[in-house]
Amino acid sequence: MRAYDRLKPYMEKAMAIKTALTLFEWDNETLAPQEAGELTASVIGLLSGEYLEAAAGEEVEQLLARCEAEDAALSSEAERAIVREMKEELERVRDIPKEEYQEFARLTARSASIWAKAREEQNFAVFAPALASIIRYQKKFAGYRAQKGEALYDVMLEDYEKGFTMESLDRFFGLIKTHLVPFLQKIKTEGRRIDDSFLTGDYPEYKQEKLARFLAEYVGFDFKRGVLAVSAHPFTTNLHNKDVRITTHYTKRVDSSLFSVIHEAGHGIYEMGIRNDLTLTPVGQGASMGMHESQSRFFENMIGRSEFFWMPIYEKLRGLFPDELGEIPLEAFTDAVNKVQPGLIRTEADELTYSLHVLIRYEIEKLLIEEDMDVREIPRVWADKYEEYLGVRPSHSGEGELQDIHWSQGSFGYFPSYALGSAFAAQIYYHMRENMDFDGLLARGELGVIREYLRENIHQYGRLKTSRQILKDTTGEDFNPLYYIRYLKEKYGKIYRVKN
Ligand code: ZN
Repeated sequence: MRAYDRLKPYMEKAMAIKTALTLFEWDNETLAPQEAGELTASVIGLLSGEYLEAAAGEEVEQLLARCEAEDAALSSEAERAIVREMKEELERVRDIPKEEYQEFARLTARSASIWAKAREEQNFAVFAPALASIIRYQKKFAGYRAQKGEALYDVMLEDYEKGFTMESLDRFFGLIKTHLVPFLQKIKTEGRRIDDSFLTGDYPEYKQEKLARFLAEYVGFDFKRGVLAVSAHPFTTNLHNKDVRITTHYTKRVDSSLFSVIHEAGHGIYEMGIRNDLTLTPVGQGASMGMHESQSRFFENMIGRSEFFWMPIYEKLRGLFPDELGEIPLEAFTDAVNKVQPGLIRTEADELTYSLHVLIRYEIEKLLIEEDMDVREIPRVWADKYEEYLGVRPSHSGEGELQDIHWSQGSFGYFPSYALGSAFAAQIYYHMRENMDFDGLLARGELGVIREYLRENIHQYGRLKTSRQILKDTTGEDFNPLYYIRYLKEKYGKIYRVKN
């Protein structure tokens, strides 16, 4: 018997436990009752221990070593990739003592509700001790895995985006800082005024939900394999390519839910497009966080915020909200949904200022991990950076450092992939425009052609390729952040009628 065939049942068990854990995560954010937290956290802690055993037990370690030695016996690219991914997962967790791993899982399960409470009370001090513990664990865990001389934050970054370290990200964010901060200033002082007041108003929730379902389906989210629910913070999760779950939230601003849904549908379409032979294996998910974000932002911005996208469906939208939008021409609507407005909330940010929000988180994470900054410093540093880059200052923690759930989940090194994703999307966008009548397809409602292109070049592969490889194979060149800068300057220069 091949070592791989003996390894396979372990892989399947690990994936089954992981799927169950994912479902708990989903449930925590959507339907779980308020008091479920503590007890469910202990179930999650126990299952996490089981996962560790199945994914990184001694037997698995030996089998993986044999699989590598018997490389010729591996019969497909997929098998080779599964062994590679399992090896990496093993290295990620091997040196973490089981008790510490379980303790950390319990801590993060609990801290989500501590964070939520702190946010509600607008009081960072409530969350600070939990956050300090999470950072301590994260640094400890990264330390177990770091190669000699490797920076801890680089270890964390590697989990989300292979091949991107502080060195390359400093360069990337440096470009953003030098080009976009002054460009934003120019738009604020020289750009024309855009009215978006009609986007806020009496948009009944049941109608917004109807619109959300329509749009998700229109861009290609398959409701036979997916669901849409409500959560405080929109997100996507997937159990496998036949069960993909997205959420949104409904507010007084109709465009908030509308673009959240298109964004999450973009994530969902990626997961649904992964090949059947890869799903429910460690290779059966998006290539990286950044590549995932490139797809959601591609759907949200390149597709969803284009005037051509709305041409075939704007009448439907107007019909749904005649009082609010009946008098608003299409051009005024698409101008409004592209309005640049430096604000405090990342998830509500316009496309131009979005990466500045990410830049701020990147700089703070570097301070926390590499400079050992005290967590109690976060509120002040956060506010100062917002003032410097965006010209706004939060008046309380709820609209400042408590707005994102990521740190409470132990996700450090995650944020940069949001900005990288936008940059990947811009590079793919320019390449696609050379190869198809992109605007015409949108105007005719033929989104299937665009979706098929993305499935063919990106989605189907899961993690068979890295994000860098996908970019190269799809666009013919390595990652090039200048496309992103060019995209933003061209688009917003035109909308605001300023020279870039
Ligand atoms: Zn996203």
